Amino acid sequence: MSEQVTYLPLARKWRSRSFDELVGQELAVKILKNSLYRNTIFPVYIFAGQRGCGKTSMARIFAAGLLCEKLHNFRQNTAQPIPCACCEICEAVRVGAHPDVIEIDAASHTGVENVRTLIEASTFLPLRGTHKIYVIDEAHMLSKAAFNAFLKVLEEPPQGVVFILATTDYHKIIDTVRSRAFHIFFDPIAPHILQQHLEKICIAESMTYEPAALALISRATQGSLRDAIMLLERVFLSEEAVNIAFVERLLGYVDHVRVVQLADFLVQKKWTELEAELEALELLGADAQRIWDQLIDVLSDYAYVHSEYRAQAFEALPQFFTHESVFIKTIHKHIMLKMICARVMGFGEDDSSASNVAVKQSESQSRMQPKAQQKTQPKKVDQPVTEKSVPAFCAIAQESVPEVQKARVPEGVRVSAEAFPTWWPKFLEKVSAGSDFSLYAFFTLIRGARYTETSGTLTFFCSTDQGLCKEYIAQKRDQWIDHAQLFSGAIASVAFEEVTGDVAKKASSQKVSEVAKKVGASSAKPTSKDWPIAAMAVELFGGRVQAGSDGSIEKFTKKDSSIHRSEKAINDQIDVNQNGECHKKIKE
Ligand SMILES: [Zn+2]
Repeated sequence: MSEQVTYLPLARKWRSRSFDELVGQELAVKILKNSLYRNTIFPVYIFAGQRGCGKTSMARIFAAGLLCEKLHNFRQNTAQPIPCACCEICEAVRVGAHPDVIEIDAASHTGVENVRTLIEASTFLPLRGTHKIYVIDEAHMLSKAAFNAFLKVLEEPPQGVVFILATTDYHKIIDTVRSRAFHIFFDPIAPHILQQHLEKICIAESMTYEPAALALISRATQGSLRDAIMLLERVFLSEEAVNIAFVERLLGYVDHVRVVQLADFLVQKKWTELEAELEALELLGADAQRIWDQLIDVLSDYAYVHSEYRAQAFEALPQFFTHESVFIKTIHKHIMLKMICARVMGFGEDDSSASNVAVKQSESQSRMQPKAQQKTQPKKVDQPVTEKSVPAFCAIAQESVPEVQKARVPEGVRVSAEAFPTWWPKFLEKVSAGSDFSLYAFFTLIRGARYTETSGTLTFFCSTDQGLCKEYIAQKRDQWIDHAQLFSGAIASVAFEEVTGDVAKKASSQKVSEVAKKVGASSAKPTSKDWPIAAMAVELFGGRVQAGSDGSIEKFTKKDSSIHRSEKAINDQIDVNQNGECHKKIKE
């Protein structure tokens, strides 16, 4: 015999050929072997289970067993293998050349015509054996008309005909068909069984491997043997040894050590380090969803395995889950991840004992606020949204916000104080048309601006709870300053001023009532713990937030993907006061 020249993919090479070789489906094997032994064969079977868990292989093995020349021996002595895998029939079924075993892919034969042809053919007697077996793969893809045509033959099946409907979507098979079939459910293959099988393959194929790499492949492929073997093959063909680093890269995983580091920063409430690490990962192109998933995994380990951070992890996890639906729906996942981490770390919580950061924050706030105002600071976190309980979401400690005082040599003509009100909306429009969405989003949070001609200082107004916003705008100075230059403006320095008095009060009350309306405060009463994320999401991304009955955020609908606002639209929202300052309009 000539040596095999073409490479046989591992998934095909290692396809199970007997009941004993099938991985992780003991119950299904037992049922089918027993029905062969007792000669109890049903006319219709439904094999249901996720992809890659052995349904089609099982159907072929069962068909071979049913037709095998040695079936008689098996019925006398169950120790005999079935199918025997050595007779002519077994071989014919294995290579797909047996005329009485017909495999149909329903995904490409969905129509009623295909089913009629099949039914017609099924009425003819088997060519070689006692049974004729139809294996219909992806059976849920059949059209309703096709199913109905099929129903007739299911009610009165021709003698010796067996239909095996394999499906990954059991519920899409119509009820009338389901109720006439014998069901066999295939479980996802357990990771440890999958890993053992992969080890067996590695040894047989002389692959060098790291057990941890195989464990990761087993976990990542979620019970699909075919996916696991295909992934193993990809690694094997790319690397000399099956190593975990490469598997992680292939799967788009973030370096586990870095995620553990991230989790540590989170539970230790080290905001600066955490933020830097998140930004570094973003720069590396790490997927935010992947970071989220792995972070949850690590925190779960902390919570359930003995760990010094057990209590903190228990506290953090539910908060992540509360915000999960918003996180999943937003397309700006990196920003949202950062915000949620900030929230989990206690930014925006009124209980000053919650964390060191919160203490720092409340200290800096108390220094900024007059005594009378401090007394109105709410202590309870869980009260419904009211004007009084505005939490300072993401209020980074004041000291950490860098005041940008970098001198810039004035160029061109200075913007005059008089011309500033016409300049400001133009500038905002430029920012909104720019490519940096985050920058634009943060600029929408800015309450207004003033230009001081004598010093060339551009002062942004913001409220006390916008630390993150200030920090970001300060950091990205080089980006937006170019827009300023477009209008021949000369900006020597940039400053931030917290808006106090009526403007801030009005702004806050407007913001709260607006958000409260959006989250359905009157009916669902979202708690003050919930709304800041909603508010940020609405402000950042537009759209609508729906509150669940328990006050949690249930649904976040994004308005539209276009963020560009025209100069006129911006202008309509700006009030200019007698000092030439621009302020966001306050809706009454
Ligand atoms: Zn045989």
